[in-house]
Parts: sequence; C-alpha cells; structure tokens
Amino acid sequence: MFTRIHSATVIGVDSSIIEIEVDLKKGLPQQTIVGLPDTAVKEAKERVNSAVRNSGFVFPLGKLTINLAPADIRKEGSIFDLGIAVGILIVSGQIETQKNIEEYVIVGELSLDGYIRPVHGILAILETVKTIGIQKILMPYENYSEASMISGVRIQAVRYLSDAVGLISGSQYTIYPEGENHASVTTVFQKRKAAVKKTQADSVDFSEVKGQAHAVRGVEVAASGGHNVLLIGSPGSGKTMIASRIPTILPGLTEEESIETTKIYSIAGYFPENSGLMEKRPFRAPHHTASEIAIIGGGKNPIPGEITLAHNGVLFMDEFSEFKQNIIQSLRQPMETGMISISRADFRLIFPADFMLVASMNPCPCGYLFDPDRKCQCSISQIRKYYMKISGPILDRIDIQIEVKPLKLAEIVTEKTSLSSASIKKRVMGARNIQKSRLSRHGITLNSQMNGVLVKRYCVLNQSSKNLMSRAVKEYHLSARAYFKILKVARTIADIEGRESLREEDLLEALSYREVEDILYREPKIP
Ligand SMILES: [Zn+2]
Repeated sequence: MFTRIHSATVIGVDSSIIEIEVDLKKGLPQQTIVGLPDTAVKEAKERVNSAVRNSGFVFPLGKLTINLAPADIRKEGSIFDLGIAVGILIVSGQIETQKNIEEYVIVGELSLDGYIRPVHGILAILETVKTIGIQKILMPYENYSEASMISGVRIQAVRYLSDAVGLISGSQYTIYPEGENHASVTTVFQKRKAAVKKTQADSVDFSEVKGQAHAVRGVEVAASGGHNVLLIGSPGSGKTMIASRIPTILPGLTEEESIETTKIYSIAGYFPENSGLMEKRPFRAPHHTASEIAIIGGGKNPIPGEITLAHNGVLFMDEFSEFKQNIIQSLRQPMETGMISISRADFRLIFPADFMLVASMNPCPCGYLFDPDRKCQCSISQIRKYYMKISGPILDRIDIQIEVKPLKLAEIVTEKTSLSSASIKKRVMGARNIQKSRLSRHGITLNSQMNGVLVKRYCVLNQSSKNLMSRAVKEYHLSARAYFKILKVARTIADIEGRESLREEDLLEALSYREVEDILYREPKIP
C-alpha cells in the first residue's frame, strides 16, 4: 500500500513543501528512508518506531520504503517525524480514513513516548502553506501561539501522536487549545497583541540621560538618516546608556517588517512563549567574545546570527575593537547589501541582515584620551594602531562618530536631562518621511543609502558652502568617500528641520561627527 503526506522544511528564512511517500510491501521486515542525510535517517527511524509503539499502535512488518522528495532540497530530520508516522499508520491500515490526508501539511518532531515536540520556523512554513493553497496544518501544540499569527490556514495543534491520528481518522481526539476554534483565533491574537504591547512598552527613555547633548544629538541625526554610529568614550561615560535608548527613537516596525522579523526569531528558536508579532525594532548587543557563527550566522545546520536577529533594528557592538578581526571584516557585506550569504560545500543560504550599526569603543588603549583629569599614557603610534583595526571599509560605512565625554560629579547635579524619547522620535519620523518621499522613486528610503549620483543630485551646495567644503578637504585631507559621507549627514540634518536647501551650519555639524579621523590626524600636542 502507498500514501503521500505533505510536510515542510525550513531553508534559511523561507520554507519548502516536502512530500513524504510511504510504501509498504509484503516481505521480510526492512525499513528504508531515502532523501535524508545518513545520520538523520537513523535517528528518525528510532524516534518514529518508538513513538508508534508507545502510542498503542503496531509497527508494521514488511518492506517499508519512505521517500522524501524532492531529493535535491536540503532537509533536516526531525521535522518529518509526525508525517512519517502518520504515513506508516495509513499504509498499515491503522488509520482508516485517508481520503482527506491531501488537505494537510504535517510537521512535528516525535518524542519516544509519542509526544509531539515543537519545531523551528513555523511562521515561514505557514506562509508557504498559505501560498500553495493547502488549507490545514497539523502541527505541535507548543507552536500554536506562534502559528496563530498567520490567518488563512486552519491550524490543528496536537500534543500526542494518538491525538493526531484521532484527528485525521475523525474518531476520538483532543484538539488544543480546548474550546478554541479557528474563528476565535483572531480575538486571541488581538488579546495577545495588547498584552505584548504592554510588556514591550519602552522601559528606558532618553529623558534619563544627563548632559551628553552632543552625543544625543548625534544619535538623533543617525536615527533620522539611518546612519551607522560609532560612540567613542572612556568606560563609564554613558555609551551603553545612549546606545540602548536608540530603539526608543526609531519608528515602529511596519506590518511587513514585523512579520519578517518575527519569522527570523521563529526560525532561530527565540520565539517567546505567549507573545505576538514583534512590534519594536530589535536591539541586539552581542558580547565581543562571541563566536563568528553566533554573530554572523552559519554552522552545520545554518542558523541566523546576531546580525540577522538585528535585521530591521539595531546591532550594538560594545568594545568594538575587541571583537575578532574576521568578525569585524565580515560586517562589510551586510553593511553594503543588507544581507549575508553563508556558503557551505553543498549549498548557499542568504539571511537578511539590514541593521543600523551602533558601535562603541574607548578613545585609546588606556581609555583616558579625552579625560581632563587623567593623563593618557598612550603614544600617538599606539593610538593610530588601535584605530587601524576598524579603519578602512568598515569605518567608511560609519557616517557618524561621536565623542562621549564622562560627566564630572558636579555636572551630574547641574546638567540638564535630555529631551524625552517621544519628542526626539517625532523629529526622526518627520525627517524620515521627507527622505521617503524624495528617495522612494530610487528604491531607497534613507539618506544613508544614497549613492554618489544621488548625493550630487540632492545635496546641492551654494557658493559659501562650496568654499567651506573646499577648505575642509584641504585641512582634513578628505577623501571622496569622506566628502560624500559629510554631505549625506548634512542632508539628514536639513531634513530634520524640514529644509530643502543645505546650509553651512549643516555641513559644520556633519564635520563635527568625524571623531576618529580627528584623533588619527590631529597633530600631537606639544607639552
Ligand atoms: Zn590613552
């Protein structure tokens, strides 16, 4: 006897439908699985065999052949367990009604006792299921809250293999959540969304930052134009405090971005219990000792790294110069293209990685270069060497570099607090709207994404600004790339004020966000 079950597998951030063909012939007991890597086959056989027997069914004797098609799609083993088990029970006559089996996509990993364990990437799977027009998905109960965010597919979430069998054959079964049918899922989702909104409410605010007006302003400009930022300051100067508040001045995720971001977290296995679609931009802060796989992504069964988890949000790299050199260099591709491709011997995956980089570091190896009260012990050559690690292509893509000065005790008392996040965000949104209407015809939405041609077109300088810039080129030895960076930032500054023309003040402010170059090219002070 033969049957065919639809199942699915996750590839990168997408998914693909897999057909499980199950054939049982008379003969000596033999079990063959085709279409999976060898080790996965062995494990799948053991899990399915035990789960079937421990759920009160009989594992059939005879020649059993299971084929997972198409063969050329890379598959991992455990997600097919439930589909394989259902197929085996159909061909062995233990599930009688199989006329509706075509209506289902079946996914789930089996425990040895028949419990159905959750799978990663259920959102990506549901999106595929929806597009090919299959109406029902039979899946693990533990994935229910995640799956309930996609409408248009009937979700049947079960806890045990025996429940799955009961559901398909139309006999006794328990379907979860008890008493909830699909019609009420929308209400459940809305309730959950409200709950999430509450828990996701910003717990930090820029109004808690004292002093640091220059740094907060620099960050506002960066957020407005989508510019990458480097915060330079000694330990305890408040770099982390400022960085962690950047998401509070960024616009919320659009619906499309929200689904995309939630999908990534679902695939990475980070989907929090009982939460809904993500609404806030992600803020990821990997430690400098983290591995390349953890940050960039990859591995034997490739997983998204921190740069992908930061997609549509902020990637904060504290102590930037302490990260491994190869990791810093690997940021180049995502910073240029908004994605990362991960190559293995037999396949290649693309993960999205369009993030705003917020890096921070000490001003010099000893940390006291800017400190008025303590003497920096570093030589000029030591300081230059220190910045070499981040110079070149990466620094070229960090439009804004800001010095963060430590506050003195007296200043902590007297300094004014910064504006609230809400009022900064209002200006950021205004500037972003202007950019969007100007740039969307070019397929971009932010000033930081402009190429040289667009910079020339949209950053027109009057005569006095031209004079200023030619003085700056001479004085600071500006490269063409540095010149364009300054113009782009000046464009954003004018957009914050809703001004079409660029003024000298905009250029001067943009020139003030070049801290690294300033340190590198500053003449050593003669004592
Ligand atoms: Zn120093």
